Amino acid sequence: GNQVRLQAIEQITNRAPKEVAQTKPLSQIWANDVFNLQKMEDALSKNAFKAIKKTVQTGVALDNSTADIVAAAMKDWALSKGAKFFSHVFYPMTNITAEKHDAFILTNSDGNAINEFTGSLLIKGEPDGSSFPNGSLRMTNAARGYTAWDPTSPVYIQHTANGATLMIPSVFMSWTGEALDKKIPLLRSNSAMNEAAQKVLSLMGETDIADLNSSCGPEQEYFLVDENFANARPDLLLAGRTLFGAAPAKGQQFDDHYFGAIPPRVQVFMQDFEDQLYKLGIPAKTHHNEVAPGQFEIAPYYGAANVGADQQQLLMTIMKKTAKEHGFLCLLHEKPFAGVNGSGKHVNWSVGNSTQGNLLDPGKTPHENLQFLLFCGAVIRGVHKYGPLLRAVIASAGNDHRLGANEAPPAILSVYLGDQLEKVFEEIKTGKLTGCTDGGEMDLGLSQILNFDRDPGDRNRTSPFAFTGNRFEFRAVGSEQSVSGPLVAMNTMLADSLNWIAEKLEAALTTQDQTAAVITVLKELVELHGNAIFGGDGYSEEWHKAAVEERGLLNIPTTADALPHLMSADIVKLFESTGVLSPVELESRYEVYAEQYNLAIEVEAKLTSDIAKTKIYPAAISYLSELTHASSSLSGLGLDLNPTVTKEIVEHANGLLVTVTKLEAEVVKHDFADAEAHMRHSADVLCPLMTEVRAHADALELLVADELWPLPKYSEMLFIK
Ligand code: ADP
Ligand code: MG
Repeated sequence: GNQVRLQAIEQITNRAPKEVAQTKPLSQIWANDVFNLQKMEDALSKNAFKAIKKTVQTGVALDNSTADIVAAAMKDWALSKGAKFFSHVFYPMTNITAEKHDAFILTNSDGNAINEFTGSLLIKGEPDGSSFPNGSLRMTNAARGYTAWDPTSPVYIQHTANGATLMIPSVFMSWTGEALDKKIPLLRSNSAMNEAAQKVLSLMGETDIADLNSSCGPEQEYFLVDENFANARPDLLLAGRTLFGAAPAKGQQFDDHYFGAIPPRVQVFMQDFEDQLYKLGIPAKTHHNEVAPGQFEIAPYYGAANVGADQQQLLMTIMKKTAKEHGFLCLLHEKPFAGVNGSGKHVNWSVGNSTQGNLLDPGKTPHENLQFLLFCGAVIRGVHKYGPLLRAVIASAGNDHRLGANEAPPAILSVYLGDQLEKVFEEIKTGKLTGCTDGGEMDLGLSQILNFDRDPGDRNRTSPFAFTGNRFEFRAVGSEQSVSGPLVAMNTMLADSLNWIAEKLEAALTTQDQTAAVITVLKELVELHGNAIFGGDGYSEEWHKAAVEERGLLNIPTTADALPHLMSADIVKLFESTGVLSPVELESRYEVYAEQYNLAIEVEAKLTSDIAKTKIYPAAISYLSELTHASSSLSGLGLDLNPTVTKEIVEHANGLLVTVTKLEAEVVKHDFADAEAHMRHSADVLCPLMTEVRAHADALELLVADELWPLPKYSEMLFIK
């Protein structure tokens, strides 16, 4: 074992960056591998293009003959790119992307091969989806599903070393029409938000209102570890995180990695990876070192939430694949290394349209200000009323290690507005608006435009949900998660709040002018939901106490605590009333997520006992035998070896085995009343036992001779690149 580790270090020290061709100018590669509107315009007749453009922009169904024309153009384009296969790409309830590949090939009666691709093949696929988790939906259908092209997300080419495939973003549903994926609810949540927003905007006197869409700009954090180290760490390979590892003498305490110079091998990887993103029309915008050594971030420029979500999935896939080509294992896990910063995915989110613009932008006129305050208030209400939902959609075994630790957003959902905006809402609570007089005239007047700093300097990093100038940033999302769940939750809670606002506003407008009516509605909203607004230190103990005891917010520490909230009456009603998820669809998600959690913990528990018994215990025994051998040789010479280390090793080696035995007895239990009971067992029994095994192992790492230690150490994995 130790040989592998020492060889790994030697090889890595001599590594050079991978040789890659010089990158090409952006103009030569941008969107080359995407069949976007521009390419469609070039390839299609005017009428066909008009029809498909409408479909792309609004999602209306395409008639069969146009579908055939589009499919033919798509096929020609794909063949010209070297594609022989096409695949519907879909997004099951797990965080993965699924594909089923079919060849264009058909043979005719003469035995010749021809390429065929019709509108119906483009639009509908029938993967044998029966082995995708579908929760309770298994009961309501034969678990067979079909995929259908989502024309609002462009098709693209996926290249391999010697081939290419036309990839078609799709929804995945059961024969009975239930959503089996993460895309359908996202599309539905967007429509629900649009409908509710339209009502509010019409009440605000707008007459020309284009469809509203949600936008998403995800920031992705990740770690890179050399593959030689990774290959010697079964925990990294199979669980995506280290289950063992003593803290290194040097960690991130010097803050010398954050925004520091990017190591050359990593920089070459980033450029290679980003070129691939550009070819796919994914606008990689920033990249930099993150807080922890070996940790990095990439953030594409924001775009429509549905396309953004598909691109985020693609980004994760390409990132892992490209890292491998550069000799790295890319870790998307939320907490690959204990004691160093974890990885999150900040989901920047806003809603807007082409006529009113970004509704979360304060704007430049009092009228825009009022609309902004309504939408902002709607978000505040959402965070307060549906905080447990926001917590549930970011719940995973990995994210549990991050949330609530003092480096990541707490497991209490609150919303940060910044000083200026917080003050505005505070005043609204007393029935005023900056610059307004009490009682009578509530007109903002042209001079009283809310003038927010574009980029408030004081960006509270401790908040899980923050307003950042023209958008909200959901920071508690896990690095490995699909952004769809969080986007669905945000869009849906916004829809619900806007519906509530529309109702109140309509009533208020019967007796008050517009400004007064808006203030009346917002006053009530802040009175009911202002408790979610918090600008202080989210990591502090005082907040943890005050949030729960004084403000009645929930602290939801683990996935086992969070997921059952999905089944609460409030949340079932929210999804049903907005048409985003039926109770059956919601329940199926609850079951799938619970199962994912339990499976993840089970894998970790099994790995913990495997590695403890077959790698760590033998290393301890080897060293013990060296020590006892030396000791008995020395006593032959009349000399005593200090027994302290020997004793400590014996103690921890025994402790390790005893705890592993307990863990093994617990991990085989599968007989639970329901998903919740099973999750409780994972969280309350398995996790603490794993922590206990680890404590013994990490103590041994600091006692056993370095050359005998089988697992690459933290200092090596984090610092050697
Ligand atoms: P920071 O690290 O300071 O939060 P970044 O520049 O790394 O900022 O990422 C901010 C993300 O937010 C980017 O993806 C950016 O495109 C996105 N973004 C900017 N404005 C909006 C908006 N109105 N709606 C959604 N996302 C936005
Ligand atoms: Mg950010």
